[in-house]
Amino acid sequence: MRTRKTNYYITMELGKYSFGTGDRFAYQGKAQLAAIIKARDIGLDLTPVWNKSNREHQIIGTLPVSVRLEADQAIKDSGFDNPYFVDADHINMESVDPFIDHSDFFTLDVAAYIGNVPDSDQIARGRAMISKLEKTVNIAGLDKAILLPDDFLEEVLRNYLLAIEAASELYAYIVEKKGTDNFIAEVSMDEVDTPQSPNELLIILALLAEYKIPVRTIAPKFSGRFNKGVDYVGDLELFREEFESDLLVIKYAIEEFGLPSDLKLSIHSGSDKFSIYPIIGELIRKHDMGIHVKTAGTTWLEEIIGLSKGDSQSLLMVKEIYKEAYLRQHELCSPYADVIDIKKEDLPQNIDKWSSEETSAAFRHIPDNSSYNPSMRQLMHVAYKLAAERGDEFRQALKRNELIIAREVEENLFERHIKRLF
Ligand SMILES: [Zn+2]
Repeated sequence: MRTRKTNYYITMELGKYSFGTGDRFAYQGKAQLAAIIKARDIGLDLTPVWNKSNREHQIIGTLPVSVRLEADQAIKDSGFDNPYFVDADHINMESVDPFIDHSDFFTLDVAAYIGNVPDSDQIARGRAMISKLEKTVNIAGLDKAILLPDDFLEEVLRNYLLAIEAASELYAYIVEKKGTDNFIAEVSMDEVDTPQSPNELLIILALLAEYKIPVRTIAPKFSGRFNKGVDYVGDLELFREEFESDLLVIKYAIEEFGLPSDLKLSIHSGSDKFSIYPIIGELIRKHDMGIHVKTAGTTWLEEIIGLSKGDSQSLLMVKEIYKEAYLRQHELCSPYADVIDIKKEDLPQNIDKWSSEETSAAFRHIPDNSSYNPSMRQLMHVAYKLAAERGDEFRQALKRNELIIAREVEENLFERHIKRLF
């Protein structure tokens, strides 16, 4: 449509490939960075981004400043001299304030506003904003033209207009506090039931441009299940098609709507989506696009694996945490009900007699290892609150077993994640 070119003033570079590594307890920053440095040594530049959502802070009882301190310390200790960021992950107007001073990456979560229906005046305004879009949009690389009949546009506006407006207000609020170009803005829509199609993404991007939000990464919800800590469940061919269409839509939106030239997809993986990693890697290379991948909870599980392999006291603690998680399943799983798929019959009630090897292998994500237990892994993924409740006992165990845990954290990120993706 080539409505206009917005020349966003941007100097902050996120880099083509960036990697969101959350760290629930803020002890593994250096080990995570070691994986990034290993990647750099083989010629792959990744920008590390430490992310921790408001929900995780609340469940654990930590403050956003802790992530900033962890990241700065890890960077200093490792002599890392490339850019890095601290992401206020999944924030909204109610939760943003404590993050303002400590983050330089903000994930504007608009999920709660999706489906809020605008009134007729607002719809009319939205209509005017996208009125220059042709009814048939041809996008280079897509087999079929994207058709935008009136009823489809109306439906997208009804679902997303107020969400984009909320992103715009939140963005303006952060600019007011931090100034322009002092942070990276992501817009996330992944925590909803219904995936956004590439056609919907096109309209959403057109609206983001109209609201002048210099979005650098966008996290749609993709088809298929992104269960916590375990592999993707869904049709890989459909995912490929959808992901490639999204990439091409983004390319088009950069050109035609004047969005920032480095705009890229952000995958909120829920950790460890191994079977789609090679597809993502292949397609971003094919279309010369960047990517941001968040894989946060995976590091907490490596702490559990490392502790299983550590001293006898820490192995015992892992078993106690598991036993308690088994008993408190309802409470722990409720906040994550839509993103876990635990088979109760696969959860052993008692693992008291399990060896260190058996315990760590059950949690370690090696899909073809017969000891790997996806249900136990998912339950443990959502059980980090129990470690937080143990307070000093847990922190001391992390310290005592620091080296063995660091090795697991680094190997997991480098061998199982980065190598599969890039
Ligand atoms: Zn997310």
